[in-house]
Amino acid sequence: MADYDLAIIGGGLNGVSLARDAAGRGLRVILLEQGDLGGAASSATPRLIHGDLSVLERRGFWRVRRALAERRIWLAIAPHLVRPMRFVIPAHSDERPPWLLRAGLFLYDRLSSPSGLPPSATIDITHHPVGNALKRPFGTAFEYSDCVVDDSRLVVLTALDAAERGAVIRTGARCLRADRAEIWRLAVVDRGHRRAITTRALANATGGWTSMVAETVLRQPQPTVAAMQMSQIIVPKLFDSDNVYVFQNSDGRLIFASPFEREFTLIGTVTHDFTGDPAIVAMPGADISYLCEAASRYFRERVAPTDVVRAVSGVNLTPASARRGDGTTHFHARRRKAPLITMFGGDLTTSRRRAERAVTRLTPFYPMSPPWTAGAPLPGGDFAWDRFDHEVDLARDRWRFLGESETQRLVAAYGSRLSSVLGEAKTRDELGPAFGPELTSAEVRYLMTYEWARFPEDILWRRSKLGLTMRATDRDALAAFMAGVNDPSRHG
Ligand SMILES: Cc1cc2nc3c(=O)[nH]c(=O)nc-3n(C[C@H](O)[C@H](O)[C@H](O)COP(=O)(O)OP(=O)(O)OC[C@H]3O[C@@H](n4cnc5c(N)ncnc54)[C@H](O)[C@@H]3O)c2cc1C
Repeated sequence: MADYDLAIIGGGLNGVSLARDAAGRGLRVILLEQGDLGGAASSATPRLIHGDLSVLERRGFWRVRRALAERRIWLAIAPHLVRPMRFVIPAHSDERPPWLLRAGLFLYDRLSSPSGLPPSATIDITHHPVGNALKRPFGTAFEYSDCVVDDSRLVVLTALDAAERGAVIRTGARCLRADRAEIWRLAVVDRGHRRAITTRALANATGGWTSMVAETVLRQPQPTVAAMQMSQIIVPKLFDSDNVYVFQNSDGRLIFASPFEREFTLIGTVTHDFTGDPAIVAMPGADISYLCEAASRYFRERVAPTDVVRAVSGVNLTPASARRGDGTTHFHARRRKAPLITMFGGDLTTSRRRAERAVTRLTPFYPMSPPWTAGAPLPGGDFAWDRFDHEVDLARDRWRFLGESETQRLVAAYGSRLSSVLGEAKTRDELGPAFGPELTSAEVRYLMTYEWARFPEDILWRRSKLGLTMRATDRDALAAFMAGVNDPSRHG
């Protein structure tokens, strides 16, 4: 008998979504990630949970409708990570005419599943706070509802849910070779140790590595794909209002500018073809200039490449014949050949559903329970999305030493599980030595014990974004602290 029913290679959003779905349906699951969870494309997305207006323009009505139904599900199961926002499109005389935008948003509202989010509206931005940051000529804007999400925490909490339902999650575990017969035999280097693993089915969810893994690790036919790089920039905060701007660029692309970690603005996305090793992906200077210029057309404050505090890039594959952002799942099984799932591309919004459909393809091979992920909250997400502020108030009542914005960060990260991080602490000192004004050793220990954090970057750039503001001395102290804690992961 094989050790597992399903082994998944790749701990991005596609891999962890497969793990969560399959573990909750009773399969014995192991996930192998060579680096950190969400360490590649899944933490370099535009962070949107949306129906995607640009798809509507291409008449993808059903696709938009399905994505909006998923948006409603994400709000229900991850109310801490997913935040509803008003998206504002200033009307620009050279771009799409106002009547077209109005008609598009009317349709967008109609395609939305009931979720309690307000419908679209026309606003006069000469007398509205959202106009303050924009150049003068913009008089009218359209606003509509969509959501933003913390992409890398979505990956980690999906993995945590999978682990709590029995999946084994191994980070720092690279699959070197997989031999296919009636079962799969895998050779893995797991934190320096060679391991052999057998499994009845295998999933290749290695994002930008998918073709390479198919060819060199699995030695199976490669999918016909195009590699694409997507990039964004982070700059100091350009506006105070709590909304996302959607700008129409002169080349017809939509550019997003959204609030990012209180002090910053995230601007994206630019995508283009990619060749090379997905592990070495840097944002070209031309792409940085492109986004700066696109933002500068709209914002009063000019955005220059020297303002960029961080550029974020990721690589993934799209089917060679498909449009940007489309995802693909291949399923392959034959007599005497154990099943193989290949899942790549796609977006955050539809990842849950795609994983559900992929795991369902295994139904003829194993007895398993029906789909379940749409109705079960992610860890810490067992409250209604419109009670987020109430959760913050409760936390401030309980841990009186916390400041307002700090509590918002903690509730957004841990939701109702914040007590697992802070325990019964009555003062900040009880949480141990701190690294900068917010990160305490209690939080670091929690992340190392329950969320697979091993190195400072895992905490500073993926479990949080505190790397944006942390001083070098605090970073060094954090590295020394983490090196002194034995790997306490209870999930291995
Ligand atoms: C052009 C483009 C535009 C996109 N735009 C959007 C967008 O607008 N909105 C949106 O939400 N999403 C967007 N996406 C999708 C998004 O970036 C990802 O597709 C999604 O996050 C899922 O990523 P993944 O899990 O497939 O890959 P990744 O997150 O890259 O994960 C793959 C993982 O596999 C691991 N791995 C590789 N080889 C091995 C091995 N041998 N052993 C163990 N582990 C291994 C890697 O370390 C990596 O962590 C876009 C994608 C593309 C291509």
